[in-house]
Amino acid sequence: MQEQYRRPRGTQDVLPEASERLEALRRLTRGVTARYGYGEIQTPVFEQTAVFVDGVGEGTDIVQHERYTFTDAGGVSLTLRPEGTAAVARAYVEHNMATWPQPVRLYYWQPMFRRERPQAGRFRQHTQYGIELVGSEHFSADAEVIAVGVRILAEVGKAPQVLVNSMGDEVCRPRYREALVSYYTDHFEALCEDCQARLRINPLRLLDCKRDVGLKAGAPDIADYWCEACRAHFDGVTALLGAMDVRWTRDSGLVRGLDYYHRTVFEIQDPALGAQSTLIGGGRYDGLANRVGAAGRTPGVGFGAGAERLLLTLPPEYGQNRRPRVFVARVGDGQDAFLCAEQIRRAGLAADVDVMGRSLKAQMKDAARRAAWVVIAGGREWAEGRAPVRDLASGSTEEVALGDLVGYLAERVGADRP
Ligand SMILES: [Zn+2]
Ligand SMILES: [Zn+2]
Repeated sequence: MQEQYRRPRGTQDVLPEASERLEALRRLTRGVTARYGYGEIQTPVFEQTAVFVDGVGEGTDIVQHERYTFTDAGGVSLTLRPEGTAAVARAYVEHNMATWPQPVRLYYWQPMFRRERPQAGRFRQHTQYGIELVGSEHFSADAEVIAVGVRILAEVGKAPQVLVNSMGDEVCRPRYREALVSYYTDHFEALCEDCQARLRINPLRLLDCKRDVGLKAGAPDIADYWCEACRAHFDGVTALLGAMDVRWTRDSGLVRGLDYYHRTVFEIQDPALGAQSTLIGGGRYDGLANRVGAAGRTPGVGFGAGAERLLLTLPPEYGQNRRPRVFVARVGDGQDAFLCAEQIRRAGLAADVDVMGRSLKAQMKDAARRAAWVVIAGGREWAEGRAPVRDLASGSTEEVALGDLVGYLAERVGADRP
């Protein structure tokens, strides 16, 4: 295959089986979030670049190294959506959702684009699902958002565990940031190259480093710097998690790489997965909407999660449509079979018909690969008002009156009606 006709590096083609799994997960996440009152929002695949640069923050990997930015023919700088929250905040402001009954609960399922270093399971285009609860500063909003994530993972068979922390607010975070900078400045020579740069741009990210774990152990703990309001907020969130029997632990090193996070940050993990156990990440972002044009204070809390990442951890049978199909084999010119298959489909069943011009024998062979039942249409029995129906599992054949055929199949196969 010629190199220029390959798919771009880090992207994938979603083939039918994988597509079924994605769709099943989409239905599940949409269903769970709808039970909690979240309505779906779909924002454009690209936004004006400022939405992400101002919304997500200059000092982040997403903005610095990973965004796909282009200038269109009109000279406007556009960026393919690298994450969900900034775009949702932009839509919240643009549609004046502050005038809606509060809070506003939004769910999304959308492709995201990041030029990440290629590695297993990381794609430059991937699907993220998430929720945003906008308009509440109350700690119960944080607990609700975490509960939604826990419920989604529970419903795909996980036993989720929550790691939670607070990044403080404008009162206490600056003091903590100072303490952190002072601590790491004392150890500057020991820091990795990335962290030496982060120390100037985004010092909280130092706690994220996978290389400097030894230094992290001695770093100051933000809990010692929380103001009273931040401590009360954290205690409120975790008390509700406890009341719901959600397993949670505080992780003092848990910080999110995006500048807009405020107070609560959390990850929901499946401990059975070992090192790569985080499936959902989120937090509170009280200042975000102001960065993309909101006038008043617009608190929000939400999470985002990779759909393909979660699917990788689910069993192969997840989302596979096991509903049996009917194969309508053609005898003669094929009109009867074609119409019969059509009637079966109108009744909500799945039916295949030969479009290869195969012999009856070859059709039966094909049917065995794809169907559970075969109807033979167009032969002698058909002319007499009956159709032989073969159950491929047992090998037995029954003759069914044409008027009863669809009902007979529906009873055995089960219709796929909305
Ligand atoms: Zn480092
Ligand atoms: Zn505080």
